[in-house]
Amino acid sequence: QNREHINIKPVVEQALSLLSQSFKKGEVHVKLVAKEDVESQIDSIQLTQVLFNLLINAIYASPPNSTITCSLTQDDDRIYIDIADQGKGIPDKFAKKIFDPFFTTKPVGEGSGLGLSVVHGIIKSHKGTISHSHNTPKGTIFEISIPKQYN
Ligand code: ADP
Ligand code: MG
Repeated sequence: QNREHINIKPVVEQALSLLSQSFKKGEVHVKLVAKEDVESQIDSIQLTQVLFNLLINAIYASPPNSTITCSLTQDDDRIYIDIADQGKGIPDKFAKKIFDPFFTTKPVGEGSGLGLSVVHGIIKSHKGTISHSHNTPKGTIFEISIPKQYN
């Protein structure tokens, strides 16, 4: 792992731009909300992997013409990355299972069920947290927090 003190916003912008064809294909809009630069000690390749896995899931769940919103915020100690979609949502009965390796609700060939377990492992290795909740009126929000300083 190669943790460096980096500005998160350009990493998120790059991930969004690399996925621009997927957004276009799904007819899904994307909005980045970042009032200020947020910096953290983080492996930028692993952060990109996290963003890809979450965004690809969000696009898959999203109906045409809906919007996926990525927000970057911070407090004194931590940075926060929220990814909110207006998609089909995660039923409560699956809420605890989605981070398990090989858990998928997708047809054979469309999902390995590994995406969120990889995300979980990367966030844990940064001493961060990840959780999800229902978006209103519909969809899902994934919320990540990562300490600014890794000791
Ligand atoms: P995969 O995408 O291969 O199914 P993941 O580990 O990435 O595996 O996700 C596991 C499951 O969590 C998905 O199959 C889906 O049921 C659910 N899921 C993940 N993200 C979302 C989302 N944004 N909206 C709705 N369901 C989701
Ligand atoms: Mg996935």
